[in-house]
Amino acid sequence: MEQNIQEVLLTEEQIRQRIAELGEVLTEEYKDKNPVIVGVLKGVVVFYADMIRQVKVPCQMDFMCISSYVGTSSTGKMVVKQDISADIQGRHVLILEDIFDTGNSLDFTYKHLMERNPASLKICTLLDKPARRNPNITLKPDYVGFSIPDAFVVGYGLDYNEYYRNLPYIGILKPEAYN
Ligand code: 5GP
Ligand code: MG
Repeated sequence: MEQNIQEVLLTEEQIRQRIAELGEVLTEEYKDKNPVIVGVLKGVVVFYADMIRQVKVPCQMDFMCISSYVGTSSTGKMVVKQDISADIQGRHVLILEDIFDTGNSLDFTYKHLMERNPASLKICTLLDKPARRNPNITLKPDYVGFSIPDAFVVGYGLDYNEYYRNLPYIGILKPEAYN
């Protein structure tokens, strides 16, 4: 695994510190709001587990799984593979995502959840890659962990063909690892 990493972009310590900061902001935002925190599987799993423990308010956990992404290039087509189980009508909902890249996935997820009339719907993404944004998408993440350059990253939940999710840091994959 490690030999295919060209560069460590974000260390475990950098990620831990940033999550602690975001946790303070989200704790303040969601106190008295009893939020439903929706994780988008599977990339978010590691971030979700660390983030939710820093949001120190009563909250419920839920997950959904959408699919579209094959290898390193987005196909643009999206389907809900697994929906959330909570009734979110009138609830404050926070979406947690691993990465906001073209924005297509989160745009789809956002619209899907908005149809159920939540009291509020916000997005917290660990990573943002603004360089690759689909120009037709106006949606913006409300909370961003790190803005990163246009490189394919793995680790801390992010995969390449389902591997590397268990790396504890975020690294840039060597191009020869996917060529
Ligand atoms: P978007 O729909 O915003 O283009 O892409 C979102 C999804 O694409 C993410 O949830 C993630 O699964 C995948 N993705 C986008 N960029 C990267 C990347 O640099 N590394 C990995 N591993 N996945 C990415
Ligand atoms: Mg993914």
